[in-house]
Amino acid sequence: MPDIEIDMYESLPVPFGLVRFGVAPDHPEVKNCIQTFSGVATSPTFTFIGNAPIGDAPGHLPLSSLLPHYDASLFTYGASKDRKLSIPGEDLTNVISARAFVGWYNGLPEYADLNPNLEEGEVATVIGQGNVALDVARILLSPLENLRQTDIAEHAVEALSKSKVKQVQVVGRRGPLQAPYTIKEIREMISLPSVAFGPLPSGLLPDHPKKLPRQLKRIAEILHKGSTTKVEDAEKSWELKYMMSPVAFNAAKDDSSRLGSVTFDQTAFVETSHNPSSPPEEELNRIRGLRVRSTGKQITVPTSLAFRSVGYVSEPLPGLLEAGIPFDTKRGIIPTDVHGRVLPVNSNTAESGGSGQTVGIPGGGGWGGDGGEKPIGEEEAKESGAVPGFYCAGWVKTGPTGVIASTMADAFGTADAIICDRQRKSTSLSRTIKGGWEEVRKEAKSRGIRTTDWKDWERIDAYERDRGREKGKERVKCRSVKEMLDVIGA
Ligand code: NAP
Repeated sequence: MPDIEIDMYESLPVPFGLVRFGVAPDHPEVKNCIQTFSGVATSPTFTFIGNAPIGDAPGHLPLSSLLPHYDASLFTYGASKDRKLSIPGEDLTNVISARAFVGWYNGLPEYADLNPNLEEGEVATVIGQGNVALDVARILLSPLENLRQTDIAEHAVEALSKSKVKQVQVVGRRGPLQAPYTIKEIREMISLPSVAFGPLPSGLLPDHPKKLPRQLKRIAEILHKGSTTKVEDAEKSWELKYMMSPVAFNAAKDDSSRLGSVTFDQTAFVETSHNPSSPPEEELNRIRGLRVRSTGKQITVPTSLAFRSVGYVSEPLPGLLEAGIPFDTKRGIIPTDVHGRVLPVNSNTAESGGSGQTVGIPGGGGWGGDGGEKPIGEEEAKESGAVPGFYCAGWVKTGPTGVIASTMADAFGTADAIICDRQRKSTSLSRTIKGGWEEVRKEAKSRGIRTTDWKDWERIDAYERDRGREKGKERVKCRSVKEMLDVIGA
């Protein structure tokens, strides 16, 4: 469909969002998708508009000034906040959001001044056992010489070089087979050079892991095997603690503003019926889905640093609701059908704080159409009563789960839906030509916003790489939006 023009609005002057500011610096291979994105950006029908945050505040572009100038608007702004635990003491110094910490070591301007105090004590506690929790633990424990060569922020190298953290405990409220960490990431943690793992709490893994579904069997084997580095021989170590649900962060005895310990409820599994002859996939879901309850017993763990890593959450973009686009505050998503078409406010599922369910399309999911088939989802679009012209992809559609590959697959599905709807619309006589960025540019100018384009990004990119070369690393990222704009003389 060569006649489609795409304008991409980004709040920061630079592109790539989570790939630049969320993927761990010691996972450069995950960032290879940047090459694909950059290839797309060279298309003459693509325009990057950076430094254009959406909103009504000074320096922002109101959503209402954009939407009338496009045939289709796609919301793909991810999950920009972290989920809170809402327990006492969460605001104590040294109770840090994992999202903020990740942003800090990745050079996200919003968190450049986070200044986590890594010199307070030797023990750090990470609450949550997803891959973000493992990223945080790995950055705290990795040999600094390995991290120095990456694009990790210079302020993080400086702080990590003074870190006193020697032991990291990664705590989950459920068991080893329920935690969302993935095999590759857990194996990488266990293989960290000169870092010991363990000991694993006893009695939580089955005596006969061979009977487990394949994925769980591999996790159990890796955990059982442990690391070759012994705790007594290593300067640094980490451990996984299970069946502990946080109830309070407690102040240190000598300073009421500082963290001293975390109190957890000890948990036990809620019994469920188990059919020994159920197929492996069902058994996998049953084990993965096991829930816990409090046993009434508590345990208090001394720690001087805690990270809250219990997931991210999306927020409604300013002006969404006014534009007739709903936001499900309970699930933190814009409700859509499975193809990413936004569902209306008055749909039985879409209202804020509603049922918390997104309508699924029966029989949907065929995302690989080649144009020779019936357009994907045409009938379904009519059935679902989607809001015409509004689409969604990524974490603001699905919630904060999945890796880059699955998020890209989700985006391709939404792109198919946009093309399919466009094909239908192009046969109608009522189609008008919209002005896109050429029209919005006037609003940006009247608001005094200096937006950036792809050439600006290329100059910032070259500047960061030059600085990196001087230090023997891939790049030294700009610390602030001002620094980025200074580079391009804006
Ligand atoms: P996540 O995978 O959803 O893990 C969240 C963790 O927080 C779970 O252990 C969860 O326990 C726990 N939790 C939630 N609410 C809690 C509460 N009230 N009290 C105690 N614990 C609570 O989230 P994430 O780690 O932020 O990762 C988000 C997504 O990004 C995931 O899909 C992840 O795989 C992906 N990611 C991938 C990579 C990679 O590929 N290397 C790196 C980073 C992130 P329950 O399970 O009991 O709810």
